[in-house]
Amino acid sequence: AFDVLIVGAGPAGSAAAIYTARKGIRTGIIAERLGGQVQDTLSIENFIATIETEGPKLAMQLEEHIKAYDVDIMSLQCAKALIPAAEKGGLHEVQFESGARLKAKSVILSTGARWREMNVPGEKEYRSKGVAYCPHCDGPLFKGKKVAVIGGGNSGVEAAIDLAGVVSHVTLLEFGSELRADAVLQKKLASLPNVEVIKEAQTTEVLGDGQKVVGLAYKDRKTDEMHKIELAGIFVQIGLVPNTDWLKGTLELSPQGEIVIDNRCKTSVDGIFAAGDVTTVPYKQIVIAVGEGAKAALSSFDYLIRLGN
Ligand code: FAD
Repeated sequence: AFDVLIVGAGPAGSAAAIYTARKGIRTGIIAERLGGQVQDTLSIENFIATIETEGPKLAMQLEEHIKAYDVDIMSLQCAKALIPAAEKGGLHEVQFESGARLKAKSVILSTGARWREMNVPGEKEYRSKGVAYCPHCDGPLFKGKKVAVIGGGNSGVEAAIDLAGVVSHVTLLEFGSELRADAVLQKKLASLPNVEVIKEAQTTEVLGDGQKVVGLAYKDRKTDEMHKIELAGIFVQIGLVPNTDWLKGTLELSPQGEIVIDNRCKTSVDGIFAAGDVTTVPYKQIVIAVGEGAKAALSSFDYLIRLGN
Protein backbone atom coordinates (compact mmCIF):
# COMPACT_ATOMS: atom_id res chain seq x y z
CA ALA A 1 0.00 0.00 0.00
CA PHE A 2 1.04 3.59 -0.54
CA ASP A 3 1.61 6.06 2.26
CA VAL A 4 -0.03 8.67 0.02
CA LEU A 5 -2.10 8.08 -3.08
CA ILE A 6 -2.81 11.20 -5.13
CA VAL A 7 -5.79 11.02 -7.48
CA GLY A 8 -5.47 13.64 -10.26
CA ALA A 9 -2.25 14.90 -11.84
CA GLY A 10 -2.88 18.51 -12.75
CA PRO A 11 -0.93 21.32 -11.06
CA ALA A 12 -2.40 20.48 -7.61
CA GLY A 13 -1.69 16.74 -7.75
CA SER A 14 1.76 17.26 -9.26
CA ALA A 15 2.77 19.67 -6.50
CA ALA A 16 1.43 17.27 -3.87
CA ALA A 17 3.44 14.37 -5.33
CA ILE A 18 6.67 16.37 -5.34
CA TYR A 19 6.15 17.46 -1.74
CA THR A 20 5.30 14.00 -0.36
CA ALA A 21 8.09 12.29 -2.33
CA ARG A 22 10.57 14.77 -0.89
CA LYS A 23 9.52 13.61 2.59
CA GLY A 24 10.67 10.12 1.61
CA ILE A 25 7.21 8.55 1.94
CA ARG A 26 5.79 6.05 -0.54
CA THR A 27 3.85 8.11 -3.08
CA GLY A 28 1.62 7.10 -5.97
CA ILE A 29 -0.09 9.47 -8.40
CA ILE A 30 -2.83 8.30 -10.69
CA ALA A 31 -4.89 10.23 -13.23
CA GLU A 32 -6.82 10.08 -16.45
CA ARG A 33 -4.54 12.66 -18.02
CA LEU A 34 -1.22 13.98 -16.72
CA GLY A 35 -1.18 17.78 -16.69
CA GLY A 36 -4.94 18.21 -16.34
CA GLN A 37 -6.53 21.38 -17.69
CA VAL A 38 -3.11 22.83 -18.36
CA GLN A 39 -2.97 20.55 -21.42
CA ASP A 40 -5.86 22.55 -22.92
CA THR A 41 -4.28 25.95 -22.36
CA LEU A 42 -2.34 27.76 -25.03
CA SER A 43 -0.67 30.72 -23.46
CA ILE A 44 -0.11 31.07 -19.71
CA GLU A 45 1.08 34.50 -18.57
CA ASN A 46 0.20 34.48 -14.87
CA PHE A 47 2.27 31.63 -13.47
CA ILE A 48 4.46 33.71 -11.24
CA ALA A 49 8.17 33.89 -12.19
CA THR A 50 7.39 32.63 -15.71
CA ILE A 51 6.56 35.57 -17.99
CA GLU A 52 5.00 33.40 -20.64
CA THR A 53 4.65 29.70 -21.27
CA GLU A 54 2.41 27.25 -23.09
CA GLY A 55 0.10 24.71 -21.42
CA PRO A 56 1.56 21.53 -22.94
CA LYS A 57 5.07 22.77 -22.09
CA LEU A 58 4.14 23.43 -18.46
CA ALA A 59 2.40 20.02 -18.30
CA MET A 60 5.61 18.37 -19.51
CA GLN A 61 7.65 20.26 -16.90
CA LEU A 62 5.23 19.13 -14.16
CA GLU A 63 5.70 15.52 -15.27
CA GLU A 64 9.50 15.85 -15.45
CA HIS A 65 9.56 17.33 -11.98
CA ILE A 66 7.52 14.41 -10.55
CA LYS A 67 9.79 11.94 -12.38
CA ALA A 68 12.83 13.44 -10.67
CA TYR A 69 11.60 11.64 -7.54
CA ASP A 70 10.64 8.12 -6.59
CA VAL A 71 6.94 8.35 -7.42
CA ASP A 72 4.72 5.67 -9.01
CA ILE A 73 3.00 7.46 -11.90
CA MET A 74 -0.10 5.83 -13.39
CA SER A 75 -2.06 7.48 -16.20
CA LEU A 76 -5.17 6.71 -18.27
CA GLN A 77 -6.97 5.53 -15.13
CA CYS A 78 -10.37 6.91 -14.17
CA ALA A 79 -11.31 6.64 -10.49
CA LYS A 80 -14.88 5.49 -9.89
CA ALA A 81 -15.11 5.03 -6.10
CA LEU A 82 -13.40 5.90 -2.85
CA ILE A 83 -13.85 3.54 0.09
CA PRO A 84 -12.61 5.24 3.26
CA ALA A 85 -10.84 3.14 5.91
CA ALA A 86 -13.20 1.26 8.19
CA GLU A 87 -11.27 2.26 11.32
CA LYS A 88 -9.13 5.28 12.22
CA GLY A 89 -5.65 4.90 10.77
CA GLY A 90 -6.69 2.06 8.44
CA LEU A 91 -6.22 1.85 4.68
CA HIS A 92 -8.39 3.79 2.23
CA GLU A 93 -9.17 2.20 -1.12
CA VAL A 94 -9.66 3.80 -4.53
CA GLN A 95 -11.34 1.79 -7.27
CA PHE A 96 -10.90 2.47 -10.99
CA GLU A 97 -13.01 1.93 -14.12
CA SER A 98 -10.37 -0.55 -15.30
CA GLY A 99 -11.07 -2.77 -12.30
CA ALA A 100 -7.81 -1.76 -10.57
CA ARG A 101 -7.89 -1.08 -6.81
CA LEU A 102 -5.25 0.81 -4.86
CA LYS A 103 -4.84 1.18 -1.12
CA ALA A 104 -3.17 3.94 0.85
CA LYS A 105 -2.84 5.25 4.38
CA SER A 106 -3.77 8.69 3.14
CA VAL A 107 -5.32 10.00 -0.06
CA ILE A 108 -5.09 13.41 -1.73
CA LEU A 109 -7.94 14.18 -4.11
CA SER A 110 -7.00 16.61 -6.88
CA THR A 111 -9.35 15.72 -9.73
CA GLY A 112 -9.91 19.33 -10.79
CA ALA A 113 -12.88 20.77 -12.59
CA ARG A 114 -14.15 21.55 -16.06
CA TRP A 115 -15.83 24.66 -17.46
CA ARG A 116 -19.43 24.11 -18.50
CA GLU A 117 -19.64 24.60 -22.26
CA MET A 118 -22.40 26.19 -24.33
CA ASN A 119 -22.35 23.25 -26.75
CA VAL A 120 -22.96 25.39 -29.82
CA PRO A 121 -21.27 25.14 -33.24
CA GLY A 122 -17.89 26.87 -33.32
CA GLU A 123 -17.25 26.72 -29.57
CA LYS A 124 -14.81 23.80 -29.68
CA GLU A 125 -13.14 24.88 -32.94
CA TYR A 126 -12.38 28.35 -31.61
CA ARG A 127 -11.44 27.38 -28.07
CA SER A 128 -8.32 29.43 -27.19
CA LYS A 129 -8.81 31.27 -30.51
CA GLY A 130 -11.27 33.72 -29.04
CA VAL A 131 -13.44 31.42 -26.96
CA ALA A 132 -12.22 31.71 -23.37
CA TYR A 133 -13.37 30.62 -19.95
CA CYS A 134 -11.10 32.51 -17.55
CA PRO A 135 -11.12 36.33 -17.46
CA HIS A 136 -8.13 36.46 -15.06
CA CYS A 137 -6.12 34.39 -17.54
CA ASP A 138 -7.18 35.65 -20.96
CA GLY A 139 -8.69 39.10 -20.33
CA PRO A 140 -5.48 41.00 -21.21
CA LEU A 141 -5.29 39.21 -24.60
CA PHE A 142 -8.35 41.23 -25.67
CA LYS A 143 -7.06 44.65 -24.61
CA GLY A 144 -8.84 47.34 -26.62
CA LYS A 145 -11.11 44.80 -28.39
CA LYS A 146 -14.81 43.94 -28.17
CA VAL A 147 -15.87 40.85 -26.23
CA ALA A 148 -18.98 39.12 -24.99
CA VAL A 149 -19.60 37.41 -21.67
CA ILE A 150 -22.11 34.57 -21.69
CA GLY A 151 -23.99 34.18 -18.41
CA GLY A 152 -25.47 36.67 -15.96
CA GLY A 153 -24.78 34.93 -12.66
CA ASN A 154 -22.15 36.16 -10.22
CA SER A 155 -19.22 34.84 -12.25
CA GLY A 156 -20.54 36.31 -15.52
CA VAL A 157 -21.20 39.74 -14.03
CA GLU A 158 -17.84 39.72 -12.19
CA ALA A 159 -16.15 38.81 -15.48
CA ALA A 160 -17.94 41.64 -17.31
CA ILE A 161 -16.88 44.18 -14.65
CA ASP A 162 -13.31 42.87 -14.76
CA LEU A 163 -13.12 42.86 -18.57
CA ALA A 164 -14.71 46.32 -18.90
CA GLY A 165 -11.51 47.74 -17.41
CA VAL A 166 -9.34 46.03 -20.03
CA VAL A 167 -11.28 45.69 -23.30
CA SER A 168 -13.07 48.38 -25.32
CA HIS A 169 -16.60 47.00 -25.01
CA VAL A 170 -18.39 44.14 -23.27
CA THR A 171 -21.75 42.65 -24.24
CA LEU A 172 -23.20 40.44 -21.54
CA LEU A 173 -25.74 37.89 -22.75
CA GLU A 174 -28.14 36.35 -20.25
CA PHE A 175 -30.42 33.45 -21.19
CA GLY A 176 -33.11 34.30 -18.62
CA SER A 177 -35.22 37.44 -18.23
CA GLU A 178 -33.14 38.75 -15.29
CA LEU A 179 -29.49 38.73 -14.24
CA ARG A 180 -28.90 36.34 -11.33
CA ALA A 181 -25.89 38.10 -9.82
CA ASP A 182 -25.87 39.82 -6.41
CA ALA A 183 -27.54 43.25 -6.45
CA VAL A 184 -24.30 45.09 -5.59
CA LEU A 185 -22.57 43.55 -8.63
CA GLN A 186 -25.51 44.39 -10.89
CA LYS A 187 -25.38 48.00 -9.67
CA LYS A 188 -21.66 48.21 -10.40
CA LEU A 189 -22.21 46.69 -13.84
CA ALA A 190 -24.96 49.19 -14.66
CA SER A 191 -22.59 52.06 -13.81
CA LEU A 192 -20.05 51.07 -16.47
CA PRO A 193 -20.30 53.02 -19.75
CA ASN A 194 -18.81 50.32 -22.00
CA VAL A 195 -21.04 47.40 -21.00
CA GLU A 196 -24.30 46.40 -22.67
CA VAL A 197 -26.58 43.72 -21.20
CA ILE A 198 -28.87 41.68 -23.45
CA LYS A 199 -31.39 39.48 -21.65
CA GLU A 200 -33.33 36.51 -22.98
CA ALA A 201 -30.52 35.89 -25.43
CA GLN A 202 -29.64 32.34 -26.43
CA THR A 203 -26.22 32.06 -28.03
CA THR A 204 -26.57 29.77 -31.03
CA GLU A 205 -23.18 29.89 -32.74
CA VAL A 206 -19.60 31.09 -32.41
CA LEU A 207 -18.63 32.76 -35.68
CA GLY A 208 -15.05 32.58 -36.94
CA ASP A 209 -12.94 33.25 -40.02
CA GLY A 210 -11.15 29.91 -39.89
CA GLN A 211 -8.38 31.34 -37.67
CA LYS A 212 -10.14 33.15 -34.87
CA VAL A 213 -13.46 34.33 -33.49
CA VAL A 214 -15.09 37.23 -35.35
CA GLY A 215 -18.51 37.25 -33.71
CA LEU A 216 -21.43 35.35 -32.32
CA ALA A 217 -25.02 34.67 -33.27
CA TYR A 218 -27.85 34.67 -30.77
CA LYS A 219 -31.59 34.24 -30.75
CA ASP A 220 -33.86 36.73 -28.99
CA ARG A 221 -36.00 34.27 -26.99
CA LYS A 222 -38.93 36.70 -26.82
CA THR A 223 -39.26 37.27 -30.57
CA ASP A 224 -37.27 34.31 -31.99
CA GLU A 225 -35.36 36.83 -34.10
CA MET A 226 -31.72 36.01 -34.88
CA HIS A 227 -28.95 38.58 -34.32
CA LYS A 228 -25.20 38.78 -34.90
CA ILE A 229 -22.59 40.67 -32.89
CA GLU A 230 -19.07 41.38 -34.18
CA LEU A 231 -16.42 40.79 -31.55
CA ALA A 232 -13.02 39.24 -30.93
CA GLY A 233 -13.60 37.25 -27.76
CA ILE A 234 -16.31 35.27 -25.98
CA PHE A 235 -15.99 34.49 -22.27
CA VAL A 236 -18.24 31.59 -21.32
CA GLN A 237 -19.29 31.94 -17.67
CA ILE A 238 -22.04 29.39 -17.19
CA GLY A 239 -20.44 27.33 -14.47
CA LEU A 240 -17.41 25.35 -13.39
CA VAL A 241 -18.17 21.71 -12.68
CA PRO A 242 -15.93 19.92 -10.15
CA ASN A 243 -14.97 16.32 -11.04
CA THR A 244 -16.61 14.79 -7.97
CA ASP A 245 -19.43 12.63 -9.35
CA TRP A 246 -17.52 9.58 -8.17
CA LEU A 247 -17.29 10.94 -4.61
CA LYS A 248 -20.97 11.64 -3.95
CA GLY A 249 -22.02 10.18 -0.60
CA THR A 250 -18.41 9.49 0.49
CA LEU A 251 -17.36 12.85 1.84
CA GLU A 252 -18.83 16.31 2.35
CA LEU A 253 -19.42 18.25 -0.86
CA SER A 254 -20.66 21.85 -1.20
CA PRO A 255 -23.99 22.56 -2.95
CA GLN A 256 -21.87 23.16 -6.10
CA GLY A 257 -20.31 19.70 -5.73
CA GLU A 258 -16.89 20.93 -4.57
CA ILE A 259 -15.04 18.98 -1.86
CA VAL A 260 -15.35 20.91 1.39
CA ILE A 261 -11.91 21.45 2.94
CA ASP A 262 -10.51 23.40 5.87
CA ASN A 263 -7.47 25.67 5.72
CA ARG A 264 -5.19 22.61 5.91
CA CYS A 265 -6.86 20.86 2.96
CA LYS A 266 -8.54 18.31 5.25
CA THR A 267 -11.82 16.84 4.01
CA SER A 268 -14.63 15.55 6.22
CA VAL A 269 -12.94 12.09 6.27
CA ASP A 270 -9.88 11.48 8.43
CA GLY A 271 -6.72 10.89 6.35
CA ILE A 272 -8.27 12.15 3.11
CA PHE A 273 -7.15 15.53 1.84
CA ALA A 274 -8.06 17.54 -1.25
CA ALA A 275 -6.47 20.36 -3.26
CA GLY A 276 -7.03 22.61 -6.25
CA ASP A 277 -10.03 23.28 -8.49
CA VAL A 278 -11.97 20.30 -7.09
CA THR A 279 -12.26 21.97 -3.67
CA THR A 280 -14.13 24.87 -2.11
CA VAL A 281 -11.01 27.05 -2.30
CA PRO A 282 -11.94 30.18 -4.27
CA TYR A 283 -10.27 31.34 -7.50
CA LYS A 284 -9.43 28.48 -9.81
CA GLN A 285 -5.90 29.20 -10.98
CA ILE A 286 -2.70 27.23 -11.60
CA VAL A 287 -0.64 29.15 -9.05
CA ILE A 288 -3.34 28.56 -6.43
CA ALA A 289 -3.72 24.86 -7.29
CA VAL A 290 0.05 24.38 -6.95
CA GLY A 291 0.09 26.04 -3.52
CA GLU A 292 -2.91 24.02 -2.35
CA GLY A 293 -1.28 20.78 -3.56
CA ALA A 294 1.81 21.54 -1.48
CA LYS A 295 -0.39 22.31 1.51
CA ALA A 296 -2.38 19.06 1.16
CA ALA A 297 0.89 17.10 0.95
CA LEU A 298 2.26 18.65 4.13
CA SER A 299 -1.04 18.03 5.94
CA SER A 300 -1.01 14.43 4.79
CA PHE A 301 2.56 14.05 6.08
CA ASP A 302 1.49 15.52 9.44
CA TYR A 303 -1.33 12.98 9.56
CA LEU A 304 1.00 10.06 8.76
CA ILE A 305 3.60 10.87 11.40
CA ARG A 306 0.86 10.91 14.01
CA LEU A 307 -0.51 7.48 13.03
CA GLY A 308 2.17 5.69 14.98
CA ASN A 309 2.39 2.63 12.71
P1 FAD B 1 -6.87 19.96 -13.17
O1 FAD B 1 -5.86 20.72 -13.93
O2 FAD B 1 -8.29 19.98 -13.64
O3 FAD B 1 -6.37 18.43 -13.10
C1 FAD B 1 -7.22 17.41 -12.71
C2 FAD B 1 -6.54 16.05 -12.82
O4 FAD B 1 -7.43 15.05 -12.33
C3 FAD B 1 -6.20 15.61 -14.23
O5 FAD B 1 -5.02 14.86 -14.19
C4 FAD B 1 -7.39 14.74 -14.62
O6 FAD B 1 -7.08 13.80 -15.65
C5 FAD B 1 -7.62 14.03 -13.31
N1 FAD B 1 -8.96 13.46 -13.10
C6 FAD B 1 -10.18 14.05 -13.13
N2 FAD B 1 -11.16 13.18 -12.82
C7 FAD B 1 -10.52 11.98 -12.59
C8 FAD B 1 -10.97 10.69 -12.20
N3 FAD B 1 -12.27 10.41 -11.97
N4 FAD B 1 -10.04 9.70 -12.06
C9 FAD B 1 -8.73 9.94 -12.27
N5 FAD B 1 -8.25 11.16 -12.61
C10 FAD B 1 -9.14 12.16 -12.76
N6 FAD B 1 -5.14 29.07 -14.88
C11 FAD B 1 -4.16 29.98 -14.75
O7 FAD B 1 -3.66 30.19 -13.64
N7 FAD B 1 -3.69 30.66 -15.85
C12 FAD B 1 -4.16 30.46 -17.12
O8 FAD B 1 -3.73 31.11 -18.09
C13 FAD B 1 -5.21 29.49 -17.27
N8 FAD B 1 -5.78 29.28 -18.48
C14 FAD B 1 -6.72 28.29 -18.62
C15 FAD B 1 -7.21 28.02 -19.90
C16 FAD B 1 -8.12 27.00 -20.09
C17 FAD B 1 -8.61 26.72 -21.49
C18 FAD B 1 -8.57 26.24 -18.97
C19 FAD B 1 -9.55 25.09 -19.17
C20 FAD B 1 -8.11 26.53 -17.69
C21 FAD B 1 -7.19 27.57 -17.49
N9 FAD B 1 -6.69 27.88 -16.22
C22 FAD B 1 -5.67 28.80 -16.10
C23 FAD B 1 -7.16 27.17 -15.00
C24 FAD B 1 -6.15 26.11 -14.56
O9 FAD B 1 -5.86 25.27 -15.66
C25 FAD B 1 -6.70 25.32 -13.39
O10 FAD B 1 -7.00 26.20 -12.30
C26 FAD B 1 -5.71 24.25 -12.89
O11 FAD B 1 -5.34 23.39 -13.93
C27 FAD B 1 -6.31 23.45 -11.74
O12 FAD B 1 -5.44 22.45 -11.36
P2 FAD B 1 -5.92 21.13 -10.63
O13 FAD B 1 -4.70 20.30 -10.46
O14 FAD B 1 -6.72 21.49 -9.45
O15 FAD B 1 -6.96 20.40 -11.64
